[in-house]
Amino acid sequence: MFNIDDIVRPNIKGLVPYSSARNEYTGKNAIFLDANENPFNAPLNRYPDPLQFDLKRKISRIKNVAVEKIFLGNGSDEPIDLLIRAFCEPGADNIISISPSYGMYEVCADINNIEFRKVLLTPDFQLDVEPLLKVADAKSKILFLCSPNNPTSNCLKREDMIKVIEEFKGLVVIDEAYIDFAPCTGMLDILDKYKNMVILHTFSKAWGLAGIRLGMCFADPQIIDYLNKIKYPYNINILTQNKAFELIENYEKEKDGWVKTIVEWRERLIKKIGEKKFTIQVYPSDANFFMAKIDDPKRLLTYLRDQGIIIRDRSKVALCEGCLRFTVGTPEENTLMLDKLVEYERLNY
Ligand SMILES: *Cc1c(COP(=O)(O)O)cnc(C)c1O
Repeated sequence: MFNIDDIVRPNIKGLVPYSSARNEYTGKNAIFLDANENPFNAPLNRYPDPLQFDLKRKISRIKNVAVEKIFLGNGSDEPIDLLIRAFCEPGADNIISISPSYGMYEVCADINNIEFRKVLLTPDFQLDVEPLLKVADAKSKILFLCSPNNPTSNCLKREDMIKVIEEFKGLVVIDEAYIDFAPCTGMLDILDKYKNMVILHTFSKAWGLAGIRLGMCFADPQIIDYLNKIKYPYNINILTQNKAFELIENYEKEKDGWVKTIVEWRERLIKKIGEKKFTIQVYPSDANFFMAKIDDPKRLLTYLRDQGIIIRDRSKVALCEGCLRFTVGTPEENTLMLDKLVEYERLNY
């Protein structure tokens, strides 16, 4: 049986967390003379709710996950870092991830002096389950998966992820930052079944709120409690809490419209770019970006940059040799880029 107390760092298990004024008195209509705040300049003179209950209740409804299974962070980057800090002993433990994938898992491991082990995806960008499980040892505390994966943009196969969750002895974190754009449903529906599974969502992509820094982490309440124990007391500021609340309340439908438009344009761009003479292959996508293998990626990248259009060079990344990564923009931006690509093809081929 998986028991979280077996893998948490002993010093974190025994930690007495900072107790803030707003932890100790959580009522609302009172005269607050307890936190050394300035009484003027309301409402921003007040510290935010440390556990963001109003916002979590909203998120609970849209995600259909109980409030006590939700942690909110300063972007997804915060829970990624906190999970490593809570469960991995510096200089001793290790984490595992797939390659290629999102760079933050490795950077957070490096910062915390945690060994990073990576296992290549198969040529069709799926999990190589046996080698992935084989690199694990008694010191492997967390295994990061990303689905849809960045930069390959595909959903990982659900049965492969479940096999990994069932066999791996530590936490399996599934980063679903792009799940709103994907035909696959994600893993939230089986959150209750697997106590060692952690799921990450974000407001940075489908919700169009990268600037407010708000990430969601869903897991068993015991895991959430450990994250709450070690986070900065007021990690989500009032402006961010209010903005996200307002967007969910008033603009949830608008988000669905954005996603629909982005997905339609993604398919159009994939088709158009696939027809170009400079394109070797365009990969199908389940996200708001896609990869294209280009005969001379550097030349195309430079051409577009000179035209004021910036795309991402992934040509040196494992399994992505020669690939450029295109994020889907507004209809106007996409149209302009396609025009420039027509021009580039006419000039060079
Ligand atoms: C963009 C992205 C995120 C989002 O990170 P935030 O810190 O929430 O902005 C998370 N994971 C992956 C794989 C991403 O590409």
